[in-house]
Amino acid sequence: MNVNDTIALMKLIAQDIEANKEYLTQLDTAIGDADHGINLSRGFAAVLKKLDEASFSAPGDVLKATAMTLISTVGGASGPLYGTLFLKMSGELKADEITLPDFCGALEAGIQGVMARGRSAKGEKTMLDVLIPVLDSLKESAQAGLSAKDAFDKAALAAQEGCEYTKTIIATKGRASYLGERSLGHIDPGCMSSCLMIKAAAEFLGGRR
Ligand code: ADP
Ligand code: MG
Repeated sequence: MNVNDTIALMKLIAQDIEANKEYLTQLDTAIGDADHGINLSRGFAAVLKKLDEASFSAPGDVLKATAMTLISTVGGASGPLYGTLFLKMSGELKADEITLPDFCGALEAGIQGVMARGRSAKGEKTMLDVLIPVLDSLKESAQAGLSAKDAFDKAALAAQEGCEYTKTIIATKGRASYLGERSLGHIDPGCMSSCLMIKAAAEFLGGRR
């Protein structure tokens, strides 16, 4: 993945967030305040604009611009959290080309950032319940010598499983935690938005988009 690939992928992610705006908001209606799709749609529309206006020399620059734009345009918890994820990732992706092991290192740094900022961990019904299984899957694939394309196809399945898993647990972080047991049976909205991003990456790397 070079800088142009990174821009192209970020544009696909923005498209998918927009296309799933209602769905993400519907998930947040069940266990939150009905704004996750609206929040991210606003943020990624601003990211699209930024990507068209600015010029970038490395993949990390694209992620940094994405992070700063999300932080400044998204009011909800997901803005600073995704902002932190992309910002920490950007710091690890300074080379011209991203390899699968590079991406794993960057995602690991991003997840650490989210955990520190959100004071959250795996199993609390947050975006981490997709991001962490995705990282584990990608690391395993990298170790097994799989191509980035195959690795992301597997990771997309792990992401989907992560979403389903959140139906079985009670939220202990974020707004959904106010519901306690009533958060059971619902997919965490942030998990679904993370899942959409991983799926877009898999489709892009697989040449399907
Ligand atoms: P808000 O909760 O402020 O309305 P959003 O609806 O945009 O913001 O985002 C909610 C999502 O943010 C949740 O579904 C969850 O995945 C994620 N989230 C909330 N709090 C945390 C946290 N402390 N750590 C990690 N992710 C969190
Ligand atoms: Mg919300």
